[in-house]
Amino acid sequence: MVIDIIKAKIDVVEEIGLVVTLQKSGKSFKGLCPFHNERTPSFHVFAESQTWHCFGCNEGGDVFTFVQKQQGLEFRDALLYLAEKAGVLVEDHSSRNPEEEREITAVKDRLRKVNEDALLWFHQMLLRSREAAEARAYVQSRGISSDSVITFGLGYAPDRWDSLCSYLLGQGYTERELINGGLARDRTSGESEGQEKSSGVYDYFRGRLIFPIRDMRGRVIGFGGRALGDGQPKYLNSPQTLLFEKNSVLYALDMAKDAIKLANQVVIVEGYVDAVIAHQYGTKQTVACIGSAITAKHIQQLKKLTKQVTLALDPDAAGATATEHGIQEALKSFDHTVVPVPLAAASGWRKRNEPRGMIRLEEQVDAEINVLQLPAGEDPDEVIRRDFSLWAYAMSHPLPLVDYYFVAKTAGLNLREPNGKSEVARRLLPVIGMISDRVKRDAYIRKLATMITIDERSLHEELQRVLRGQRAEEAGFPGAAAPRRGTGGVPQSSSFPSPEGTGLDRSRRNRLQWEDYLIGLLLQNPGLSPYVCGIINDGDFAGTDTRELYHILNSIYQRGFSSSNQSFEQLVPSALLATVARAQQCIESRPPRDGAGQVRDAVQCATRLKRTHLLQLNTELKYLVREAEEAGDVVSMQQLQHQLLEIHRQLRTIDSATHLQG
Ligand SMILES: [Zn+2]
Repeated sequence: MVIDIIKAKIDVVEEIGLVVTLQKSGKSFKGLCPFHNERTPSFHVFAESQTWHCFGCNEGGDVFTFVQKQQGLEFRDALLYLAEKAGVLVEDHSSRNPEEEREITAVKDRLRKVNEDALLWFHQMLLRSREAAEARAYVQSRGISSDSVITFGLGYAPDRWDSLCSYLLGQGYTERELINGGLARDRTSGESEGQEKSSGVYDYFRGRLIFPIRDMRGRVIGFGGRALGDGQPKYLNSPQTLLFEKNSVLYALDMAKDAIKLANQVVIVEGYVDAVIAHQYGTKQTVACIGSAITAKHIQQLKKLTKQVTLALDPDAAGATATEHGIQEALKSFDHTVVPVPLAAASGWRKRNEPRGMIRLEEQVDAEINVLQLPAGEDPDEVIRRDFSLWAYAMSHPLPLVDYYFVAKTAGLNLREPNGKSEVARRLLPVIGMISDRVKRDAYIRKLATMITIDERSLHEELQRVLRGQRAEEAGFPGAAAPRRGTGGVPQSSSFPSPEGTGLDRSRRNRLQWEDYLIGLLLQNPGLSPYVCGIINDGDFAGTDTRELYHILNSIYQRGFSSSNQSFEQLVPSALLATVARAQQCIESRPPRDGAGQVRDAVQCATRLKRTHLLQLNTELKYLVREAEEAGDVVSMQQLQHQLLEIHRQLRTIDSATHLQG
């Protein structure tokens, strides 16, 4: 689920490190607490559990809690903030009320309809109108077949001020709708010369070949227009509208998606014509990015279809930059399977603006990113038409990313000069160091050695230095992605849970199942709240989702159901609905309880959660005491010992209370 993905992508140490100056001590980090005033650090961040705790003011939690508290955000906003950072899409409809929702849906439907009508009109223009002769000639000159014209619904916008507008206004659309749909501009703003005074709007697209842009489901959401002749700009896309978001749309994705799955590859080209021609010649796994750069939002959509991304961007200098940019985005956006995110270096913090994705390649990134090699100076559509076999070969033999770097990073360097040689090694060794497969790594070392005629052994030594730096970075970081919560294994009796698994992992899983059960109980019977809130608070939850649900349920209860004008469903962010369902399922799978039984279970759950949390703090404190002891830090040691005693006191209180309950 989305929270887990975010947590796997954002390192709590790194995030907190942006705000608090952290000092590494053993496996944890410490600093001055941002939430209370102190002179000696009692604020600790634990990389292994991805949690933080201040033993001074007793605040603590995970990355979500930190962001919420530090920026004063509600969970919903913290979720949006972190999702954006992690490049994860979060759709949250629950924040709008149903009426607004209906209104927006109605407006969108109307925009779709006006786009659809515009498409038909543009298309008819291209096929039949006399003034479209130049456009038809252009289509032919680019080798676009009449079948493609039909399939892609290509069209023509005449070089007149209000031909489309007057047609659409005649169809009953309002001027406002045309402007909002990105089909017209307001006469009062912007260009105004040489227009007739017939209406308040004029055509957005004029004298252009029109490429309709569709969403994944094939619905027209906008248009791209290529100027005929010397019109400027050469390419004009629909403005941002309620339907059209330039940075997330991929041209032809609706027609490519099946082929992408089938071929298990997506080829990204830059131009509309490139994509049309690629499809026309049967390589339908091709899409074009609209605008110049590939963004995380593009990749988000693609990774549902394939993990093999081939970039076929312009071979010129600007294209190389775009390619590089595309790679960065792709690396950022795919899930990292082995090591979730780049790490804070032992020598200091990764600077804010350092590229993120560059830390780990291939094996770590859950995707294969490669680069299509085409003859210099030729666009994909030209290559396809000139020599399809060349294109087909390039598609099936793209250059792996590392090899691409070998080409890109050596461009312009003189490999015979000593300076050039050392520069190449300096640029490429970090890239080679990213490859975790040893055999592959050795092969690239050999390649580099040959390239700059240097002894392989000295390169290996140099690489070892690079790797040592990287290993230091890895220390103190969990080897796997964020712990997943078991979905099955729902508790069967009050002596649950008893799933398989070992150590930390198991105890965490158990804890999360108890949290689900408690949330389930509270959902079923909000009246249990007062029995529970005397024992635990938000901070005792290990799950981000369960913690927020507890927070919501508790605040609803405290405000009183009757006085609240928002229902529970409206208060729960969409991202948590799955957790609600899971918690309900957890209750349903157990025999029903009467009122007293529910109270008993809720109290037992809360007590267990409190106890588990205290035990966790106890473990962390003991670790910190040992650390301080080894460092000879007497002051810290005394403080920590004191806090340890406090934890023990609380544990005893809990235990005796449990004893009394029988
Ligand atoms: Zn504090």
